Amino acid sequence: MITTCAPEDVFTPADLDDDQRLIGQTAEEFVAKEVTPNIPDLEQHKEGLMPGLLKKAGGLGLLGGAIPEQYGGAGLDKVSATVLAEKLAGYASFAVSHGGHAGIGTIPIVYFGTEEQKRKFLPKIATGEKLSCYCLSEPQAGSDALAARTRAVLSPDGKNWILNGQKMWITNGGFADIYIVFAKVDGEKFSCFIVERGTPGFSVGAEEKKMGIKGSSTVPIFFENAPVPKENLLHEIGRGHIVAFNTLNVGRFSLGAYCLGGAKHVLAAASRYAKERTAFGKSLSEFGLIKAKLGEMAIRIYAVESMIYRSAGMVSAAVSGPKSGADKSQQAMQVLEEYAIESSISKVAGSETVDYCVDEGVQIFGGYGFHEDYPVARAYRDSRINRIFEGTNEINRMLIIQMLMKRAMAGILPLMPAALKLADEVIAGPAFEETPSGEFAEQERSLGQAKKVFLLAAGTAVQEYREKLADHQEIVAALSNIAMDVYAMESSLRRAQKAAKLRGEAAGVLGDAARAFIYDAMDRVEKEARTALAATAEGDALLTQLAVLRRFSKHSPLDTISIRRRVADVVLAQHRYPFEGR
Ligand SMILES: Cc1cc2nc3c(=O)[nH]c(=O)nc-3n(C[C@H](O)[C@H](O)[C@H](O)COP(=O)(O)OP(=O)(O)OC[C@H]3O[C@@H](n4cnc5c(N)ncnc54)[C@H](O)[C@@H]3O)c2cc1C
Repeated sequence: MITTCAPEDVFTPADLDDDQRLIGQTAEEFVAKEVTPNIPDLEQHKEGLMPGLLKKAGGLGLLGGAIPEQYGGAGLDKVSATVLAEKLAGYASFAVSHGGHAGIGTIPIVYFGTEEQKRKFLPKIATGEKLSCYCLSEPQAGSDALAARTRAVLSPDGKNWILNGQKMWITNGGFADIYIVFAKVDGEKFSCFIVERGTPGFSVGAEEKKMGIKGSSTVPIFFENAPVPKENLLHEIGRGHIVAFNTLNVGRFSLGAYCLGGAKHVLAAASRYAKERTAFGKSLSEFGLIKAKLGEMAIRIYAVESMIYRSAGMVSAAVSGPKSGADKSQQAMQVLEEYAIESSISKVAGSETVDYCVDEGVQIFGGYGFHEDYPVARAYRDSRINRIFEGTNEINRMLIIQMLMKRAMAGILPLMPAALKLADEVIAGPAFEETPSGEFAEQERSLGQAKKVFLLAAGTAVQEYREKLADHQEIVAALSNIAMDVYAMESSLRRAQKAAKLRGEAAGVLGDAARAFIYDAMDRVEKEARTALAATAEGDALLTQLAVLRRFSKHSPLDTISIRRRVADVVLAQHRYPFEGR
């Protein structure tokens, strides 16, 4: 984020190869043919339907993406896994069930299982013969997962772990066969276990009555002196948090991709409706305020898609890169840990983009958007959970800055030298810098300035609060918002530049989408920095900081209204997100 990168180094959807596109097509066709016709029954929890569909998906190889080939999976690279998640998002309840099984219900065994555990469980998970789920949350312990009360003690004969306690909100819990359960050994050492359905003393509660994703199973799980074979301990005693958080890290990334796919579906539906519906003798699609919504939805999707595929490309490249001797799974886990910030960004930005899209989608449908006969009403309800699970967006916002600072302190990210250089520039006045040129010169300049704004606001906050910065959550969240916008600006810009270079699209709507996003992001970045600085400094020091902020935040006016209209026109011409695969 602090250093710069060239457009050709950034992975974009245009770089997907034929195999990756085929995975997307297979997933999309599966949802359209097998899942969508069953939505009314799925919403009513028709017995056996969701597990049956998951098993069918398994038959097509859609469940084993995270599982290495030697254990019966597809061993997909990160980009392919991202395409798969995105294209399964046509029905949110199915996407959530898929993620509960093939993501967080599988990852712990892939990355932390013993050879024996992998051989026993993974082939069946890959085909869907056995369905799985991830059991971390408890009634009193959600965000604060390590406050779990479920206990495990070794039986007197040393053969079993005896589990007691309760888990809450378990996706797929109603029909799963394999439960990845976190419990504290002797009430202290947070650990992880593989529990199989049928274990005595293990029981599943009733389905929760939820606001959305009604087609998915969400249940509490109970353990009453449940004996779990000793060999089902996953990873090491007292190291369960490593399993839990690394798994969530992977899950978060995919969650962003599912959200991206969901947002595209809503845009397509809203576009079709806007064209068909008339008011005041015109099609809704002719009204400026409707075009503004369609255009903005497409622009935000473009930005989040640019970020997610860029991150996926970086992870894929890092995992396949040469690292001698390391076990492949361990190497992948290490890389995923390195990209944990990008995972949190994917989750927060993806969930907030789809929330924006469903909200405006309902608005475009008017009263009909509020009626259950129209899928946009369901999409609106389904979307809301994404900001809550896999680490709430509040928790992820804090994690982003916490991880950035940790990497900066360790010298992994060159944040400190950049902040010192900026401090010199602030004192000495504007230094001579090469002025960006070319079709995206203004956006390039804005990006550079936005990075300086981050350094200014973060540097001031760190200097003022030091190790107590985490206690100033509102400031941390403001910094996190800047960091996310900077990443989105850069990803959007590099993708547009790459498209311009390879396909001469600079003057087209894709370039316009990047320009509009960057223009608005710059305004947001300035506002967040102003809020953070005002809570950090005071008096003359604050006035000086704000003057510097104004200097960094200057950007030339851009007619974003016209851009949104142009983007909306291409959405309406195709009735879909117009930058697919570009
Ligand atoms: C439909 C559904 C499916 C789910 N599936 C699963 C699953 O498969 N497996 C599983 O283990 N869990 C699952 N969950 C649980 C989910 O992960 C938790 O609900 C989530 O982590 C939040 O925990 P909580 O509900 O206890 O809220 P709390 O942690 O009580 O949070 C309440 C509010 O306080 C905020 N907050 C909490 N701590 C802080 C803090 N330190 N600083 C600032 N704000 C804070 C939160 O952001 C939130 O806004 C699911 C939940 C739902 C609703």
